[in-house]
Parts: sequence; C-alpha cells; structure tokens
Amino acid sequence: MSMLSGWGRFPKVECHVVTARSEADVRAAVLASPLIARGNGRAYGDAAMNRGLTLDMTGMDRMLSFDDGVLVAEAGVLLGDIIHTFLPRGWFPMVTPGTKYVSLGGAIAADVHGKNHHIDGSFRACVDWIDLMGPDGTVTRLGAQDDLFHWTLGGMGLTGVILRAQIRLRAVETTFIRQETRALTSLSETLTAFESTLDAPYSVAWIDCSDGPHHGHSLLLLGQHATKADLSAGTPPLKVRHKGKLPVPFGAPPFVFRGVWLRGINGVYWLRGAKRAGTRLVDWDSYFYPLDALNNWNRAYGRRGFIQFQCALPLNTATAGLAELMQAIAASGSGSTLSVIKRFGPQSGHFSFPMPGYTLALDFPATERSLALMEQLDAITLAHQGRFYLAKDARMPEAVAKADPRAVAFAAMRAQAGLTDRFTSVQSERLGL
Ligand SMILES: Cc1cc2nc3c(=O)[nH]c(=O)nc-3n(C[C@H](O)[C@H](O)[C@H](O)COP(=O)(O)OP(=O)(O)OC[C@H]3O[C@@H](n4cnc5c(N)ncnc54)[C@H](O)[C@@H]3O)c2cc1C
Repeated sequence: MSMLSGWGRFPKVECHVVTARSEADVRAAVLASPLIARGNGRAYGDAAMNRGLTLDMTGMDRMLSFDDGVLVAEAGVLLGDIIHTFLPRGWFPMVTPGTKYVSLGGAIAADVHGKNHHIDGSFRACVDWIDLMGPDGTVTRLGAQDDLFHWTLGGMGLTGVILRAQIRLRAVETTFIRQETRALTSLSETLTAFESTLDAPYSVAWIDCSDGPHHGHSLLLLGQHATKADLSAGTPPLKVRHKGKLPVPFGAPPFVFRGVWLRGINGVYWLRGAKRAGTRLVDWDSYFYPLDALNNWNRAYGRRGFIQFQCALPLNTATAGLAELMQAIAASGSGSTLSVIKRFGPQSGHFSFPMPGYTLALDFPATERSLALMEQLDAITLAHQGRFYLAKDARMPEAVAKADPRAVAFAAMRAQAGLTDRFTSVQSERLGL
C-alpha cells in the first residue's frame, strides 16, 4: 500500500498501486479488481486514486510511430518527452495544459485545455483515435464516429483504460513565442481585452482576486508562435534547452495566504509584470509552463496541501459571475496567489469541462476556512449556470456535481455499459458517478 495524493497533496489516501508495463499487465489488472488508471498524478485531487487498485500507466511510455506530425504513442508518455523529442524537428503539441508533466492518457481522460481553447478547442482536437480497454479486457479502437470516444475525452478514466492513441502535432518554425503583456487594472478591463483579442492564438490572464473585481489588477499574456523572421540573426530556431529548476521552500507560513500579505505579494507581482508590458520573444517553456521551472512548488503549502477551485461560466453570465466570485474571495480575507482566467470556445467531449465563456482557476490552502469559501463559490457558479473541472476537484459534494445534467447522463451511461463496478476512483465514489 502507498499513500497517494494528487498534485494538491489533498486528500491523501492509502491505495494499492500496481505499475502496468504491457497490455497484458493492464488486462490482468482489469480482470482482477475494480480500478482506476493513473497517469503522472497531476490532477489536483482524487481523480486518479482507487484504494483497492490504482493502475500506474507511466510504465507504458513508448512512442510507437511518427510521420509528418502524426504520432502514435502509449498512454504513459509524458507531454514533456513528446516536446523534447519533436520540438527540435519543428513540432509542438496542438493543445497543452499549464504543465508538461502530464501523460498522454491523463491529457485525453481530462480532455485538457490550453491557452488556445478559444481557437483550437481542447485536447480532443488533436486526437485521431484511442485504444481503450473495457471492463472485460477487450481493446477497442475508438474515433470520432464512436459515442464512447466522446465520453472518454473528459471521462476521467471512468470509461476504461486508454492504452495508446494517435495524435497530431502542430508544425512550428521556432521554439519561441511572441508574447505581448498587457497590464490592466480591473476585471471589466480584462474581459474587454480578452474579447478584443480573440484572434490571438494564445491568451491567458493572471488576476489579483484579493481586492474585488474593481481593483482586480491583471496581466494579460497574449502569444503566438514566432517565425524564423522574428529571430535575431544567429539564433538557432529549433534548439531546445534543458533548464534547471528553482527550489521552493516547504510550507510557507499560513498568514502569507491572507490579508495584507497576500495583497502585497500580488501587488509586487503585478508591478513586476507591468514593467515588462509590451511585446518580446520568450522561449516555449517560459510561456507555456512557468510553474514547471519551480521544483515541487506544490509543497509550498506545507503538510496540509492545497485545493484548486476551477469553474467555467457561460459567456452571458461570465461578467456578473466572475465579479461575484471575486467579491466573495475578497470579503473572505482568504486569497489565491495563482488566479488565472482564460477564454473558452465551444465544448467538445460529451463530459468535457470547457464551455463557451470564461474559466477562473484559484489555489487555496487546504483549510476549513477555504473549504467554507469554496462552498460559497460553488453556489455562485451554479447560480450563473457554470460548471466545475473534475481534474482540479478534491472536495465537491455530489449534489453540486450532479447539478450538471451531463454528470447524471454520464453516470447512467456508465451503469448501462457495465463500467460502474469496474472503473472507479475516490472521486467517482464521492460524486456518485
Ligand atoms: C501546474 C499544473 C497546471 C495545470 N494546468 C492545466 C491547464 O492549463 N489545463 C488543463 O486542462 N489542466 C491543467 N492541469 C491539470 C492536468 O492537465 C490534468 O489533471 C491531467 O489530467 C493530468 O494528467 P496526468 O497524466 O498527471 O493524469 P493523472 O493526474 O494521473 O490522472 C488524471 C485523470 O486521467 C485519468 N487517466 C490517466 N491516465 C489514464 C489512462 N491511461 N487511461 C484512462 N484514464 C487515465 C485518471 O484516471 C484521472 O481521472 C494542470 C495541472 C498542474 C499540476
């Protein structure tokens, strides 16, 4: 037995973990016991944990074939390994989350989104097919013509074990991003800026939630892949450097996440960003994965861990809903140092998280006070017809999850297909999926 957690280090649960190295290993596990597949453990909560059997898929990490941007790989391959192999040849993932330390299977199961969702959609946009092992050990190749494909993208491992997949990469001329930083001073300015830059291939904003929507200082980062013509003479266009990682101290004192301290930290961060406003070239790693430069930054919250809250709100309620969420956070005195807004385009998988509108992601220390605040944030989200991201969830009650009619339909599909008793996670049990 091993003590497991997600990236947030909350909750911690004792699980029996088995590593699969072949299809036969996966079949033996599937036929032996109810289980959940686990990728690289970057989901924040309890989605990739099953007390009885957690099947670690990172042992199946071979890249099987590559031709003109089309890659077939096993589910345990990390996105970072794909980048280090193919970026020097001019290929980059079509869609990437904010960390490169996710497995291919985890990216598919959560149907992850990147900073380009408003243009390219979620991970599904680059997946041609998947090989999925079902409850009887049979492997089926599923593509866009199959209903189960659309439940699996966003199905959080609850439709079967993804063994391998074919995905398409994006051709790029360089490893650099032309980044434009805009320093803004309120939520409404930020949303106006998003709406006026919908043609930017990538966009994301960090926003200070400690002082309410009217004082919500933000840094909007727009990006596009740089061309060779953007580089100064002599810069190698496709050289990929391996960077070291900065250490992060274990367990910051709790007061850092509250009141004046938090306002001070956020204020300094904004001023530093505002000084760099304008356009410049940055390398791919700094633009897409700033947090990956910090070693084990999830330990900064100490032993108790932390919880993410991430919701999506439809376009017509997003302005009012985000303002109310920020108001509630400011009034609570608790705060989030990492508060991120993105613009979403259309939904893809049947149970995928994104919807046309905005998403807000927030980190809170795992305390009673934060849990109480998150109940308020749940209610505000639901009142604005919003939904929640299961890859970030560690504590939602079943009633909140089931307010989304898609969760009810997903649970019914699972029961009918005989999946409920075979593929279960701590999260699926908590949410009645
Ligand atoms: C710093 C950071 C930034 C992030 N930024 C973003 C972001 O911008 N956008 C976004 O969408 N997400 C983001 N995430 C969340 C992350 O992308 C997802 O949680 C992703 O699913 C993690 O992949 P993993 O391989 O670590 O999977 P795990 O965390 O191990 O598992 C996640 C889910 O995938 C399932 N799964 C994994 N492998 C398989 C398989 N082979 N077969 C079937 N099911 C499987 C698991 O059962 C579980 O339900 C971020 C996470 C971190 C830590």
